[in-house]
Amino acid sequence: MSETLSERDLRVIWHPYTQMQTAPPPVGIVRGAGALLFDEAGNSYLDATSSWWVNIHGHAHPHIAQQLAAQAMELQHCIFAGYTHAPAVNLAERLLPILPGRQSRVFYSDNGSTAVEVALKMALQYWHNQGSTRHKILAFHHAYHGDTFGAMSVSSRSVFTAPFNDLLFEVHFIDTPAADNIPALQAAIQALQPDTIAAIIFEPLVQGAGGMRMYEAAALEQLLQYCRQQGILLIADEIMTGFGRTGKNFAMENVSTGPDMICLSKGLTGGSMALGVTTCTAAIYDAFLSDDKLKTLFHGHSFTANPLACSVALASLDLFLDPACAQHRERIHVQHKQFAQRLSEYKTVKNIRLQGTILAFEMVTPGQDSYTNQLADLLHRFFRERRIMLRPLGNTLYIMPPYCITDEELGQVYESIIECVNVLMC
Ligand SMILES: *Cc1c(COP(=O)(O)O)cnc(C)c1O
Repeated sequence: MSETLSERDLRVIWHPYTQMQTAPPPVGIVRGAGALLFDEAGNSYLDATSSWWVNIHGHAHPHIAQQLAAQAMELQHCIFAGYTHAPAVNLAERLLPILPGRQSRVFYSDNGSTAVEVALKMALQYWHNQGSTRHKILAFHHAYHGDTFGAMSVSSRSVFTAPFNDLLFEVHFIDTPAADNIPALQAAIQALQPDTIAAIIFEPLVQGAGGMRMYEAAALEQLLQYCRQQGILLIADEIMTGFGRTGKNFAMENVSTGPDMICLSKGLTGGSMALGVTTCTAAIYDAFLSDDKLKTLFHGHSFTANPLACSVALASLDLFLDPACAQHRERIHVQHKQFAQRLSEYKTVKNIRLQGTILAFEMVTPGQDSYTNQLADLLHRFFRERRIMLRPLGNTLYIMPPYCITDEELGQVYESIIECVNVLMC
């Protein structure tokens, strides 16, 4: 009998975020449709976390696939310095008007981490080009902005960054804003000398990889207003929250202070191809215009503005802007709300929180409060056996489904969680 994908994989592949010695063999996936993925034995798995938060319209969506195929017959890639093409221009034209904060330019890259790198460089060079010495960067505790060195630097120090901590550049971390800590945050910023701070980077409303931590828009608004008064640039990392995750199209629509820069990726192509976008206001862009070549933003990647990725982002945007998409998000939100009510009756579930299509909570095993990694492995296995793709962050379990998930499929996810909670209680 011929070997399975899973067996062949074990000889040649090194997987992300995986301890290869102890991890169970990977499941070989051959096909996807809607919220389902199918393995090589024909079993279906419910993708309850949108394949690492990227998939918004379901797998193998025909509209996205058709646009991709059509573009592939026209132009697959071309250098993006000195040359341009319709997919990149069309996408920028359609994206800018729907983004919060009067965004005026799109800079393309190819994933979330690079979108963050570009934003950091834009912010630092914005000041440099004007002869300012502002250079400090602010970020939040528990932040996650990606895995490249700059993105790691602005992320909270953790077990993920430990081997590299000495090499990460200095970033000043403050608490996420809350109703009662704004004066303390202002004092912390004062102590750093605001006129030396270049920018603050933040995940609006939901800190994803840091544990699906949620915080209030009103408090964020107060902090951002203060930062703006101090001349600090505002970088909204909407890589996870963008494209409807938190209910509205973009999480920054919940505050009235517009960001100076926005980072996008994940949901941008509907989860079908790698693409990153960093947008900025005209004020940022203008600071790079000069007869002096040294004021150029010297940054670019081989696959910058890849036409295939841009056309699938356009196709995804068609689906996203259809009113049916917002209705699906609302439907999921209502179902989550009812389920949250049901969950709240279990003593082993703590800190239930909800934002748009994201429902998160902590699992507490009796007598143990922060029993982390082992519980995460246990939970992961529990759901995998039930063919539900849920991947806990420590003891935090969350659901973040593609918007096309049906009520019945959501019900299956909920029932498996109830079963899990019941098993853990014994
Ligand atoms: C996933 C994520 C990133 C990094 O994106 P990659 O494409 O994985 O490099 C950055 N910021 C946030 C908020 C994210 O959720």
